[in-house]
Amino acid sequence: MGIDLGGTKIAAALFNADGEILNRERMETANARTAKEVVQRMVEMIHSVSMEHPVCGVGLASPGTVNSKDGIVLQGTNLPEWNNIPLKKWMGDALGIEVEVVNDANAAAWGEYVRGAGKGSGNMVYITFSTGIGAGIVLDGKLLLGANSFAGELGHNIVVPDGPACICGNNGCWEMYASGTAIRDSALELMLSNPSVIGELAAASGEEISAKHVFEAHRQDDPIAAQVVSRAVHYMALGLANAIHTFNPDRIVIGGGVSKAGDLLFPALKAETEKLVMKPYRGTYEIVPAGLRDDVGLIGAAALFHT
Ligand SMILES: [Zn+2]
Repeated sequence: MGIDLGGTKIAAALFNADGEILNRERMETANARTAKEVVQRMVEMIHSVSMEHPVCGVGLASPGTVNSKDGIVLQGTNLPEWNNIPLKKWMGDALGIEVEVVNDANAAAWGEYVRGAGKGSGNMVYITFSTGIGAGIVLDGKLLLGANSFAGELGHNIVVPDGPACICGNNGCWEMYASGTAIRDSALELMLSNPSVIGELAAASGEEISAKHVFEAHRQDDPIAAQVVSRAVHYMALGLANAIHTFNPDRIVIGGGVSKAGDLLFPALKAETEKLVMKPYRGTYEIVPAGLRDDVGLIGAAALFHT
């Protein structure tokens, strides 16, 4: 069983040993305010989704900072008042089955490694570029957790020491330069004094300006979009080069909204990364788009029980 616990929704799915979904459910968390209430809802969901099948384990992907060893959510981003919640114990006691808890980026990384674009690689770095930057690392076939299971916060690596302030309290974190939010913000800044079709594209779609519109404008040869994308690609590649030097992966899997830019992103990102890595690393890794979509957290959580 995989559970993807989000700020507004919970998804649960029952998988067979081949990783196929047999049954699934989704619900809003809006009415369940306390952690106890959310846990109660998840337990009910598991009973309902399992359809009397024997469940060998429940893998849970949680946002925020998670102590995976003890299954405790230390601080749930987007889950107010979620501090030091012993999810593994509460869920395990209520269900009488084994429960594993990982943070959502690590679950996604594991999902891509076992069932997605990381399949067949031995050493994989997974990076998701969206509102922020999430990452998970698989080394020698194992999810890298670290001493406190906090490993993989690549988005908060400091790339510009006196850069803009990040929510984490530091300045110049990677996600301030290479996330979808950063792409949007640098477009907005340039649009103040330069004409661009980015605004029109966003207005036509009825959405707020986002990285998606920047890439759409880039496809139409908008010079401002080209400038924004080129800067973003440089910073994305800079972070990838750091990860390549640190982990020596054979594959880097890119997820998140920004990865949907496809041919507008990947060739440029590969070329820029090759420029930034040291010579011996050149040609030792692939950079590929993620293979799984919205279900990646669910799949990765359930795959914690993959043998
Ligand atoms: Zn930060």
